[in-house]
Amino acid sequence: MRIILLGAPGVGKGTQGHKLSDFYKIKKLSTGDILRRAVLSNSVLGLKVAEIINKGMLVADEIVEQIVFERIIDEADISSGFILDGFPRTLHQAEALDQVLQSIGAYDDIIILNIIIDYNKLIYRLSNRITCLECGNIFAKDAFKAISKDRAVIQCFKCGSFNCVQREDDKEDTIKRRLLVYDEMTLPLKNYYMKRNGWIEVDGDDTAANIFDNVINLISKKIK
Ligand code: AMP
Repeated sequence: MRIILLGAPGVGKGTQGHKLSDFYKIKKLSTGDILRRAVLSNSVLGLKVAEIINKGMLVADEIVEQIVFERIIDEADISSGFILDGFPRTLHQAEALDQVLQSIGAYDDIIILNIIIDYNKLIYRLSNRITCLECGNIFAKDAFKAISKDRAVIQCFKCGSFNCVQREDDKEDTIKRRLLVYDEMTLPLKNYYMKRNGWIEVDGDDTAANIFDNVINLISKKIK
């Protein structure tokens, strides 16, 4: 099973990706997570990448493509099945991915899941979200405050780490820029993919569990 997750920032690709990864027992590859880890390394490349991410812009195609394709082609744990979260994000990346899929004989059985939601809801969601730098878990600031009124410090629900932050690019001005970049660079991928056999689209304005049920149902019809 090979799945591409599409949709604007904050639409729930990460959450659905985790669920799909557990369900189908395949690895999820998030280019955002990989790039954020590169930033933490403080290398020259890491510092450059941090500047781009914090401005809400896209990292160069060659860098991201190299990261993703090395893993898809070379790593046994991922070559037979994967979920791509945040890749492709440009037409160049999509075309390059198709070439790689063709070379590994996987072009025809790819599932492309597009999650859609109103942008105003996304802006609220993103500006309210906290990311755990330890395990990558994402949760809502409001939900945390509601159950932990007595806690001054935010702690990850999943791994217990206190290393939880509001991402620099989850601040309102940057969110708006990310959505503009999405409209210009990534939205055209809908036209690129929508006629493919594996194309499915779901409404992201629902609970994560309901969206997941919907997704599984649609995927099962495609792989019958
Ligand atoms: P995400 O966590 O998927 O929202 O990604 C965070 C940031 O990483 C994006 O806003 C981009 O700056 C960068 N990024 C992630 N994936 C890609 C990609 N496929 N191409 C270019 N930049 C990316």
